[in-house]
Amino acid sequence: MAETEVLIVGAGPAGLMLAPELASQPIPFRITEASLVRSDKSRALVLHPRTLEFLARHGIVQNFLSRGTFNDSVRIFANRKFVFEIDLKKPPFRDTMFPNPLIIS
Ligand SMILES: Cc1cc2nc3c(=O)[nH]c(=O)nc-3n(C[C@H](O)[C@H](O)[C@H](O)COP(=O)(O)OP(=O)(O)OC[C@H]3O[C@@H](n4cnc5c(N)ncnc54)[C@H](O)[C@@H]3O)c2cc1C
Repeated sequence: MAETEVLIVGAGPAGLMLAPELASQPIPFRITEASLVRSDKSRALVLHPRTLEFLARHGIVQNFLSRGTFNDSVRIFANRKFVFEIDLKKPPFRDTMFPNPLIIS
């Protein structure tokens, strides 16, 4: 196997975000993934503003924006009963171009 400066172990969100960051430096890397098949379970319904900024920096945010909607509140239910709501109409972060989380539908 060829030598590399960085070995990324795992092609989950952390590994797949590190890869384009290294590529843009450019720093040579290899990425390994234990699983041969993509998971059929969703673990990324919500894309947070910092994640969207990252995707924008690498020119791929539009793919996600076209498939989601910005959300201005989050309602939490337990046993089908409303528990509380997080109001995101006045987002706490003002230093981002994507103030609200994007919900992928
Ligand atoms: C039900 C659920 C819903 C979620 N919804 C959201 C959401 O809407 N928005 C959000 O931002 N986050 C969400 N999360 C959290 C998000 O999924 C995790 O924060 C994220 O997956 C963590 O990424 P990771 O790359 O660190 O780890 P992982 O996603 O666990 O990826 C690690 C990868 O490394 C591989 N691996 C492990 N060991 C080895 C090895 N020795 N060699 C090679 N490969 C290896 C694994 O197969 C895996 O592919 C959710 C999580 C769950 C469980």
